Amino acid sequence: MSAQKLPEHLHRDTLAVRAASERSQYGENSEALYLTSGYVQPSAEASARRFAGDEEGFTYGRYGNPTVASFEQRLAALEGAPACISTASGMSAILMMCMGLLKSGDHVICSHSMFGSTIKLIGSDLAKFGVRSTFVPQTDAAAWQAAIEPATKLLFAETPTNPLTEVCDIRALADIAHNAGALLAVDNCFATPALQRPMALGADIVTHSGTKYLDGQGRVMAGALCASEQLVTETFLPVLKSGGMTLAPFNAWVVLKGLETLGIRMEAQSARALALAQWLQVHPAVAVVHYPGLPSHPQHALAMAQQSNRGGAVLSFEVKALDDDQARQRAFHVLDSLQTLSLCTNLGDTKTLLAHPASTSHGRLTPAQRQLAGVSQGLIRVAVGLEHISDIQADLDRGLTTF
Ligand SMILES: *Cc1c(COP(=O)(O)O)cnc(C)c1O
Repeated sequence: MSAQKLPEHLHRDTLAVRAASERSQYGENSEALYLTSGYVQPSAEASARRFAGDEEGFTYGRYGNPTVASFEQRLAALEGAPACISTASGMSAILMMCMGLLKSGDHVICSHSMFGSTIKLIGSDLAKFGVRSTFVPQTDAAAWQAAIEPATKLLFAETPTNPLTEVCDIRALADIAHNAGALLAVDNCFATPALQRPMALGADIVTHSGTKYLDGQGRVMAGALCASEQLVTETFLPVLKSGGMTLAPFNAWVVLKGLETLGIRMEAQSARALALAQWLQVHPAVAVVHYPGLPSHPQHALAMAQQSNRGGAVLSFEVKALDDDQARQRAFHVLDSLQTLSLCTNLGDTKTLLAHPASTSHGRLTPAQRQLAGVSQGLIRVAVGLEHISDIQADLDRGLTTF
């Protein structure tokens, strides 16, 4: 569907509230929600041309929808990407990417610290179909380079990572991928285009879980891939058509409206996360804090350069303990002592959400995979929301001072 006509070179803040499909004949100011699974065709000839892809126009809900198209246009504008295609969830976006790009015998390189379900999908599920993968240390560009094989088709990075917020150098990985004739995909879930635009740093594909900060208020599941027009229409759209991982129009509409406040939410939540990280860093019950905004973070300088001088809204920390059993007990105690904040394995909400990665998001990994990902029993992830910082601190302090 055609986009609304807007002047060229608008600022990203403007595109966040303006980029969308054209208005209907009713002139609605807020983008319309089109709840329909089918589309009445003007003629049999036009219908044939549309199904053949020779004419613009909607045919069937699995293939496209005007509200979904608005979300795709707006996210593409924010990422500075030529095109975008959306999916029902972040994982189905990654599945679509892999199904579109890879075949049996192909090789993928990812980091050990990827999102747990991504490790499962690429390391186990796709392995059943003959796709091979090598997992390397997130921050070691030489290890990514060393893992390159003639059959390597894709390098897939996530930065910052969940839950340790490790940062990799997008431009360096793009060079490694391109020198090997492979593509670089970046999962931009944590930083979002408000802070980081991987395509400007050389990435070929950006993957998103719209479930997280794009919605930003914890309401719906959504996912997307941003890439070239050619990758979207020739490589990913055919997978959507036959695979059916279509984003529901209602969910697209919710996330579309979420994008309007993404910039101010990421600023405000990053500021609170930094304040919380600084407070935790000197807390006597805390062993270590992982947050890219802290000068003590190993990739602090790179993160600041790559992420618009912001650390993002997610941090994690380890409670002090003598051994794994005590660490798990203490982490559980902190989480069970919460009265205001939520014990909830999600992130990207205006409400602060805390989780114990070792028993939740990374619970399906083997102990060896968990160790490589650096997810210890005492680790707590905090996805910082918009509550007042003093209330966030007080709720954490309740558990941290009563071991
Ligand atoms: C949540 C998440 C995903 C998966 O997204 P869903 O919408 O839950 O399918 C992928 N990558 C990262 C970094 C995530 O946090």
